[in-house]
Amino acid sequence: MRKIKRVVNIGGVLIGGDNPVAIQSMCNTDTRNVNATVNQISALEDAGCEIIRVAVPDMEAAAAVGKIKRRIHIPLVADIHFDYRLALEVMKQGVDKVRINPGNIGDKERVKQVVDMAKEHSVPIRIGVNGGSLEKPILEKYKSPTADALVESALGHVKILHELDFYDIVVSIKVSDVPQMLKAYQKFDEISDIPLHIGVTEAGTVKQGTIKSAVGIGALLSQGIGDTMRVSLTGDPVEEIAAAYSIQRVLGLRQTGAELVSCPTCGRTRIDLISIANEVEKRIQSIKKPIKVAVMGCAVNGPGEARGADIGIAGGDGVGIIFSHGEILRKVPQDKIVEELMKEIERL
Ligand code: SF4
Repeated sequence: MRKIKRVVNIGGVLIGGDNPVAIQSMCNTDTRNVNATVNQISALEDAGCEIIRVAVPDMEAAAAVGKIKRRIHIPLVADIHFDYRLALEVMKQGVDKVRINPGNIGDKERVKQVVDMAKEHSVPIRIGVNGGSLEKPILEKYKSPTADALVESALGHVKILHELDFYDIVVSIKVSDVPQMLKAYQKFDEISDIPLHIGVTEAGTVKQGTIKSAVGIGALLSQGIGDTMRVSLTGDPVEEIAAAYSIQRVLGLRQTGAELVSCPTCGRTRIDLISIANEVEKRIQSIKKPIKVAVMGCAVNGPGEARGADIGIAGGDGVGIIFSHGEILRKVPQDKIVEELMKEIERL
């Protein structure tokens, strides 16, 4: 059961409550390069990204945020470490959320300036605790970034904001070790109604990182934990969006987009099913409709095994068979299998 968290409005995208788990990503362009950043965000928007974050390491990047914001269509988050002046500048520039840890800003007066401006502009703050950058006293106390250490750090930052009567908060507690990450989020979820941004940090390359994220994020989502998510991958951020949708679709949290089911092939397979499945997967990626497409190796078991598919193909001897919900529709020449399947998908 998903625990109902307080609702936070990130530039029109609501997270928490019973809102969908918003899918976000982060640009890997230089934020000062407005064109490159906007182009990447456009590609991410097309892929279904719902919130985008950019790194703001200096004033030039902070000044670019407004220009970027005016040319995109999804909420923009500024990622800031330490420098409160950057936080003030991006809020002036119209950013929709700031990720900054109040405990790292310095004296109280600076924190107050950031919080006052966040209140004035209705900008939520994400506290992003990271296993790699825990405060010294906490690390000394726990020796390593354990779940308890991460939660204590997050609560410390939260306390600073609550003391200033600021509640528009999102928390993330990221660590690369999945069991620790799970424990930390579970612990925080039990004691707080602050919406959670979930993810596994430094998850790895597209292949390894997708597995790690699917396990970590998937486990939390299946327990009803998480209000927004990012799959962090060393690669094109567009891949993060595809992976995020897949994770949510597998758990039945999203019904959008085409899902591919394909058999593992076996001694009955008489066609090059692996290439066909890869080709179909590529071609159905941009489909927004919630359909299930099957690519099966043989006509004997394929249509029956993929009975749940709206449309599918099964390889025969020299021919392909197109089927829908287990019923065979027609035979097509083997070299036209993908083409004919795509035609059927368009008809759906
Ligand atoms: S669908 Fe046919 S080819 Fe694929 S694994 Fe099952 S029996 Fe083998």
